[in-house]
Amino acid sequence: MELRPLGSTGIMVSPLGLGTVKLGRNQQVKYPQAFELPSDNAVRELLALARELGINLLDTAPAYGSSQQRLGQMLGAQRKDWVIVSKVGEIFEHGESRFDFSYEHTVATVEQTLKTLKTDYVDCVLIHSDGNDLAILDNQGAASALIDLKQRGLIRAHGMSSKTVEGGLRVVRDMDVVMATCNVDYNDELPVLQAAAEQHKGVLIKKGLMSGHVQGEDGVRQSFAHVFAQPGVSSMIVGTINPDHLRSNVRLLQQVLEGAA
Ligand code: NAP
Repeated sequence: MELRPLGSTGIMVSPLGLGTVKLGRNQQVKYPQAFELPSDNAVRELLALARELGINLLDTAPAYGSSQQRLGQMLGAQRKDWVIVSKVGEIFEHGESRFDFSYEHTVATVEQTLKTLKTDYVDCVLIHSDGNDLAILDNQGAASALIDLKQRGLIRAHGMSSKTVEGGLRVVRDMDVVMATCNVDYNDELPVLQAAAEQHKGVLIKKGLMSGHVQGEDGVRQSFAHVFAQPGVSSMIVGTINPDHLRSNVRLLQQVLEGAA
């Protein structure tokens, strides 16, 4: 797949990214079907397949159960072949989420992420919003901690996985990358994508397949066509642990992008 710029960060990403929630967490998730976490072999094969298909972007978070730990164990020398996006702010423990957007917690989380992923840098770290985007950006230390972490060379880019238009617009103004929701049933955040395109900021799309509620190949194709018709999209992050879905997602997205070219 042809790589695209992640806004003005200098980072190049594949238009399809691999979401890794399902590698590490199967509690308190909103997917249509319950699932077992994949075996180590299955994860290794999924990552190898993703690379072979031209995907270079992995989206993870400390709140995704053992996702980071498993990636850290498996990436090894291949780490530099990947662009890794991680998060700060959400803590998932004993089956429940809580949030901490303080400066200290943000720094400690990124330092721990580096250890868990066995790397010395993370390409992009996003604040994992609990829905109160503006209050987090205005009143908490997370955003300034990310700037300091960038200056220390521990992260290359920063942003927020936001949930509101006002928050998304602020992220576009002040940060490098916004992760926003867009799918055939939900277009409220389109003004954020428009602003990001105008200001050359990176845009990652989450929940583009409605967290697995799309139906069949036509539904997936339509979803890709819808998302990639919007301005400024760098990459759509799709979570899957099914190699057949991964293959067909790449094929369908290629068709959509070639049709649009
Ligand atoms: P999604 O990508 O819209 O949907 C993922 C679901 O779609 C999985 O259950 C997957 O099941 C299914 N799927 C994938 N390809 C399919 C296909 N070809 N046919 C049928 N089903 C298919 O939504 P998401 O997982 O909620 O979000 C994507 C990623 O964005 C996550 O993995 C995560 O990295 C990130 N995210 C971030 C936040 C945040 O607040 N920061 C929130 C949500 C998500 P199979 O495993 O069976 O393929």
